[in-house]
Amino acid sequence: MTSFDAEGFDATTFATHVASLGRPWRTRFAPAPTGWLHLGHVVNVVWVWGLARAYDGRVLLRIEDHDRGRSRPDYEKGILEDLEWLGLCPDEPGATLHRQSDHAARFAAALAPLEARGLVFACTCSRREIASASGDPASPALRYPGTCRDRAVPLEVTTARRVRVAPGMESVTDLRLGTQQQEPAEQCGDVLVRDRHGDWTYQWCVSVDDVTQEVDVVIRGEDLLASSGRQLLLARLLGRVAPPAFLHHPLLRHSDGAKLSKANRDTGIRELRGAGRSAAEVLGMAAHASGLVAVERPVEATDLHALFRA
Ligand code: GLU
Repeated sequence: MTSFDAEGFDATTFATHVASLGRPWRTRFAPAPTGWLHLGHVVNVVWVWGLARAYDGRVLLRIEDHDRGRSRPDYEKGILEDLEWLGLCPDEPGATLHRQSDHAARFAAALAPLEARGLVFACTCSRREIASASGDPASPALRYPGTCRDRAVPLEVTTARRVRVAPGMESVTDLRLGTQQQEPAEQCGDVLVRDRHGDWTYQWCVSVDDVTQEVDVVIRGEDLLASSGRQLLLARLLGRVAPPAFLHHPLLRHSDGAKLSKANRDTGIRELRGAGRSAAEVLGMAAHASGLVAVERPVEATDLHALFRA
């Protein structure tokens, strides 16, 4: 019944890796409450829960509300409600929700040993300055040119902090795309871990939490593939011995090839619910859109595992 045409997903490779861990393994669903749940999230839900249920994994739910300006409690509430409506329940946490806004002390404590090792510096560069120094202002992925690296900017001048990134390749184990070689020093340069508003950044929060919460396999969309190498590097600096594996899955795309964003109201789960779609229909749409089933059909939450079995 499974077509496995999800561009390279191989059940045996996945099963072999997680079996090698020798214990139930842990993954996470980590939405940012900066918008309502949409079909792109549901694609991720299908892969996360489907693989966990098929291969003895545990799903941790983590609310990534590190961006205080854009995160909203009503979005968080909406995401949790929609997840329940879809019929999906995390294995962790039990009573309390993991929220990155509650982890500020953890993020600060994790940086302290790196500071003591001289790996952290204060940075006063604006995005515009970095863009003009990097020579390609139009590029969405800016490489930090190292402007403040050796300027010894006093720590009181700004709350923005970067972690030094030394040259070197990172080998990313991707259980769908194969091993990826990435060079963070070339891709992004020194990683911004806290911004000038005092907010901990996505790269830092996700790296610290994936280490602290012992996430074994990071399952997420291909749009985050380029971040994996720098997250592995940060994990190692944080003292992680066994690096996590990754599985980057295909993204939901419009027929014109554009990646869907949270602004695309036509794929909002609330809108689909309002239009009378059932949870199984929505899960089926997402499974079909990421190449897991050849012909769109309803898929029950309790049957997601079957999509990933060889
Ligand atoms: N919070 C991120 C998002 O909603 C996902 C982070 C990740 O999976 O690493 O896009």
